[in-house]
Order: sequence, then structure tokens, then C-alpha cells
Amino acid sequence: MRVIVPASEISWPLRCAACLGTATTTATTSCQISTGVPLPGIVVYKKREAAVAYPVCSRHRLSANLFGLLSRRSLFNLGLGLICTLCAVAFVFLLLADSNNSDTRESLPILFVPAAAYWAIFFIARRLTPVKLCDIRPSGATFFFSNPEYGRAFRAQNQRAESA
Ligand SMILES: [Zn+2]
Repeated sequence: MRVIVPASEISWPLRCAACLGTATTTATTSCQISTGVPLPGIVVYKKREAAVAYPVCSRHRLSANLFGLLSRRSLFNLGLGLICTLCAVAFVFLLLADSNNSDTRESLPILFVPAAAYWAIFFIARRLTPVKLCDIRPSGATFFFSNPEYGRAFRAQNQRAESA
């Protein structure tokens, strides 16, 4: 589930974001944000790194950090995904263009493997990441929670903070 809160006053329920057990440590979620600086005729994009720590139990700390890195929104992941997807597209085109040549047909699946592997890892990692920082803007921070119960607790806690 997706929750947007004011970026300045984020308050975490003191439970593990993955299993709701006792939180003993923290994991970090980060993303790259680009801010456009409009100049006459052009727009300059500045890349910035935003990171937020959230509570987890010691059992989920390593996996939360690892899967968080694999599925984070970054230029590196985006580039890798793009290359893998282009390979898959090239695969389809080569197959259509040269479907009678058996040499081409045998080597084609190689182009498809990186794309399949990339997207499999990306989506599995995303599912296994307890908390993902999706975006931070002046209007608020957007988080994605793999455990909806924790997401609801987080939303409730931050709504209270907002109204207090
Ligand atoms: Zn846990």
C-alpha cells in the first residue's frame, strides 16, 4: 500500500516493518530524486539522493537493505532495466525478421535472458522490501509498504501527528 506523509514529520510505528515483531534496529530506504531547475530555454536536472531509516527486527535488517537496493529507483537500475528491455525487443525483432535461419534462432534466447532475469529480480525484490521510499517532494514523502498492516499503522500514526 502507498502512503503519502509530510516529509518533515515522519513518525514510525516501533515494530518491524516486515513481520511486525519487536524492532531492534533500522534499515534504510533510499531513492534518487531529480529536481528541475528551469533556466531560459533549458531545464537543468539535479540528481539528489534521499534516504530514510525505518524500524525492523534484526532478522529482517539484511534482507530489507538488500532487497531495497535491488528495487530502488535509481539511474543505475533504470539504465539496466532499459538495456535488458531493449535486448528483449531486439529478440522479438530478430525472431520476426529471420525466423528461418536456425543459427539466429538458437542464439536468440540469450538476448531474452537478461531482461527476464532483471524484471524477475526487480519485482521479487520489490515485493520483499518492507518499506520503499518512492518519492520526496515539498508536498510530502511517498512510501510503499509490502505489509499493509504496517502501512495502516504508519498512516494512522502520522495522521495523528498531523492533527496534533
Ligand atoms: Zn522482522
